[in-house]
Amino acid sequence: MNFLEERIVKDGVVKEGNVLKVDSFLNHQMDVSLFDEMGKEFAKRFAGKTINKILTIEASGIGIASVVALHFPGAPVVFAKKSQSINIDGDVYTAEVESFTHKNISHVIVSRKYLSPEDHLLIIDDFLANGCALQGLIQIANQAGASVEGIGIAIEKGFQPGGRMIRNMGYQLESLAIVESMDAASGTIEFRKQ
Ligand code: 5GP
Repeated sequence: MNFLEERIVKDGVVKEGNVLKVDSFLNHQMDVSLFDEMGKEFAKRFAGKTINKILTIEASGIGIASVVALHFPGAPVVFAKKSQSINIDGDVYTAEVESFTHKNISHVIVSRKYLSPEDHLLIIDDFLANGCALQGLIQIANQAGASVEGIGIAIEKGFQPGGRMIRNMGYQLESLAIVESMDAASGTIEFRKQ
């Protein structure tokens, strides 16, 4: 098991409805030393790629992306905002994202000021389930004419379709832990061998 898999086994809680709770270290209370390890690993996996900007989505992606960015010197972090109104100052890229955890649809927006055809993006997020969040971010990158050099995910739920879909689209998707199966009754979690 790698460092993240070990931490998931130690502190993750499997809930009904295919939800893995990792609030104690990933997306409520945040272990930034763990995020730093994740950044090191992403830097290794995406070595050789030109990456000048990190793109993520609020809220849970922001903390991880910010620490990961320290391993991609010079790359600022841009996060897609979830918005009720469709516009901030009339000049935004926008996509619709269905939330796996909240089951609602939100518009996500990024100001045109912060993404352009010159950008080579690394997309970062905490979880990959059905892939809706990633599809939204990819749509925004495409609207900007930016290139997606890679996608880094902390935890992929490999029994849900997002990972296969994104890999089939041809992207380099690196998930640090891929949960193959999990069981709420026993609390057991199996990982895909990587
Ligand atoms: P997707 O769009 O791939 O279906 O879901 C990704 C988003 O849903 C992530 O950004 C994450 O916030 C949330 N999510 C999906 N599955 C889980 C889960 O098992 N646990 C937690 N805590 N969040 C999840």
